[in-house]
Amino acid sequence: MFMGIIAFLFGLSIGSFINMCAYRLPRNLSLAYPRSRCSRCGFVIPWYDNIPVLSCIILLAKCRRCKAVFSWSHCVIEFLLGLVALSMFYAEGLSFLSIYYFGLISVMVLVTMIDLEFKIIPDELSLGGLVIGLSVAGASSLFHFSWLVSFSESLVGAIAGGGLLWFVGYAYEKFTGREGMGLGDVKLLAMMGAHVGIENVLIIVFIASFLGSLIGVGLLLTHRIKSKSPIPFGPFLCFSFLIILFGKETFLKVCKVCIPFLL
Ligand SMILES: [Zn+2]
Repeated sequence: MFMGIIAFLFGLSIGSFINMCAYRLPRNLSLAYPRSRCSRCGFVIPWYDNIPVLSCIILLAKCRRCKAVFSWSHCVIEFLLGLVALSMFYAEGLSFLSIYYFGLISVMVLVTMIDLEFKIIPDELSLGGLVIGLSVAGASSLFHFSWLVSFSESLVGAIAGGGLLWFVGYAYEKFTGREGMGLGDVKLLAMMGAHVGIENVLIIVFIASFLGSLIGVGLLLTHRIKSKSPIPFGPFLCFSFLIILFGKETFLKVCKVCIPFLL
């Protein structure tokens, strides 16, 4: 119980850190300095107004001084990551695997937030994650961890993931003369390939493309977007990555049942 509460509080504070990264990384601001301020009045937010979830509820997501309204999404992200940390702790205990999975989920949340707002994926996350993926796989090969991909699988996964998306983007641009796939997505998929290997990375592209087309058509039909406005692909890749990481068996079972009906 006590350790569960610690895991939850840890998740909340990482959620708070993720919110800060989502604001500062795409603006190329330092993560360490200066302290958070109200974007309207410049009021330096004191520590007691910066307590994850609690401060947001007490202040009703407003600045203490000028009453500017902040987004409730900060509070939701913090609470969500608190729950994720708690579930990871109960599922895997305090282990390398639970911390590794929690880290991957946090990065996926961060990539989604930044890509939705700024339509970019910072290299710190994609290339940084790629290096971590290759390193973890290297350690897995060295110490024979059966639950992670080996170094060669990781390397092939990264090249296949990045290469495939780069090629699709290149072909799309050649045929249509429009940029279809940002390099950010290419680097993100290379990073995912380094963590899950070639077979899984191909399934990720399949799910993400399917979901992307489905939601794209939905948005077009409801006139939320115009036919030429690009939809960020990163969030779909992130969501598909998490499906493969935590629900691959269920996903494959659903496919086995559904695909014969569709054919
Ligand atoms: Zn203010």
